[in-house]
Amino acid sequence: METKCVSCDGPLLIPEDGYQGEIVSCPGCAAELEIQSTDPLELALAPEPEEDWGE
Ligand SMILES: [Zn+2]
Repeated sequence: METKCVSCDGPLLIPEDGYQGEIVSCPGCAAELEIQSTDPLELALAPEPEEDWGE
């Protein structure tokens, strides 16, 4: 299935067997996206463990 990257709005291909919680990376901007839901397909930027979220 194909969707759009939530970061760069580019085309992003999700494996047919993609599952909720899987992390996919965008070939366009290298953002890591987590599959929040597969039906309907929803993606969110995955948190980056290396980064400190402003604390
Ligand atoms: Zn992207």
